[in-house]
Amino acid sequence: MTEPQYGFDTLKVRAGYEPKAHHHAVAVPIYQTASYDLGSPERADRLIGLEEAGYLYTRIGNPTVAVLEQRITELDGGTGAIAVASGMAAISYTLLNLAEGGGRIVTTPRLYGGTSDSFQKIFPPLGIQIDFVEDSDDPESFRKAIRPDTKGILIESISNPNATVLDIEAIARVAHEQGIPLVVDNTFGTPYLVQLFHHGADIIVYSATKALGGHGTTIGGVIVERGRFNWANGKFPHFEVPQYLLRDQKTGQERTILEVFPNTPFIARIRFNHLAYLGAVLSPFDAFLILQGIETLSERIDKQLANTRKVVAYLEKHDKVSWVSHPFTQNSPYRDLAAKYFPKGAGTIFTFGFKGSEAELYKFINAVKVFSYHANVGDARSLIINSPKNTHGELTPEEQNLAGITPDLIRLSIGLEDPNDLIADLAQAFVKAFDEKSEL
Ligand SMILES: *Cc1c(COP(=O)(O)O)cnc(C)c1O
Repeated sequence: MTEPQYGFDTLKVRAGYEPKAHHHAVAVPIYQTASYDLGSPERADRLIGLEEAGYLYTRIGNPTVAVLEQRITELDGGTGAIAVASGMAAISYTLLNLAEGGGRIVTTPRLYGGTSDSFQKIFPPLGIQIDFVEDSDDPESFRKAIRPDTKGILIESISNPNATVLDIEAIARVAHEQGIPLVVDNTFGTPYLVQLFHHGADIIVYSATKALGGHGTTIGGVIVERGRFNWANGKFPHFEVPQYLLRDQKTGQERTILEVFPNTPFIARIRFNHLAYLGAVLSPFDAFLILQGIETLSERIDKQLANTRKVVAYLEKHDKVSWVSHPFTQNSPYRDLAAKYFPKGAGTIFTFGFKGSEAELYKFINAVKVFSYHANVGDARSLIINSPKNTHGELTPEEQNLAGITPDLIRLSIGLEDPNDLIADLAQAFVKAFDEKSEL
């Protein structure tokens, strides 16, 4: 191909879409169809035999969803991506694909609450054990947690909710020395803030519900593959099983997923196994909404980062705030790592400690008028939530402690409003929270 290397902002509005192939429609069409005409039995043979590319059934592929998959692939610089019905489906399918038949995953306690809870409830009964490292800030701690049957390391690029940053490259080195891939949940980072494949990640997962969609309208998830990992190193025998479905149509010889999809074996295996049979399919309409969001990803994140910087600076000085956890703060222990991995800023979601009683904290949340009180992040609107009782409410007090979720914690996700209105809203809510006469 003689195509120039387009920049991020060009790719985010154009990658993966060729109007000529879609009746010259300028916007990506929504292919609202369950199935596709096979044309003829001969063509059906070629499609099923993987000799001709084409669509059969929307559970395993859809042209609108494919544009989203290709766009994210190009934004992250991977070899392929697969879109699924939620961020949780993206994480679950990734773990099932890594540790099929049993095995262990090494991770950190600093995770989205749903991810941690699924690690207790869903995976151990399936023979997949999760090992939490003792010290997330020390890459050696990851090495110590790896055992012979460990199949991968999973971290978040910027952690939910406290916006901590790990040494991604050092953790990738530990993983690769042990012959296992590094999976990074980049929901808070987005491909705009960090190019994780340049820092050693092998698989990236997203909750597209958050900043990618960006408007709080749609649940979705994406898994992206770098295409470099050696799945034939002996630790992943399930990638080396010859399958009848993948047979060579001429010789009848059964082939492995690595032979048929050498550049995208991880994604292809999820499409044919997990997406096909567990079935968490992203709808074409939802793919369209996420694509709409991605078209303005950098503009939104830039503005949200500028707003975040101002709100963090305001809270840092407030006498009813005991701490603020974001690398933008003066004394953040993550400033250097954030400068290395997130030079534009380490995300638009962060936490602070509310210096008051639980009743006062409730009054504070009741008093905000611009911030919305709900369990989402990365929305165009600014959001507030008391994570210990909500987004991380499924964790026991000990688990919350390990994850850095203290009882005084409030999480903010900064949106696109006027920053002065956001600060004024918090200011009036602080006043009301500590006003003895106000009964909200
Ligand atoms: C929200 C979230 C998820 C789960 O995504 P859903 O789309 O809600 O299923 C996973 N990881 C992180 C970091 C999240 O914030």
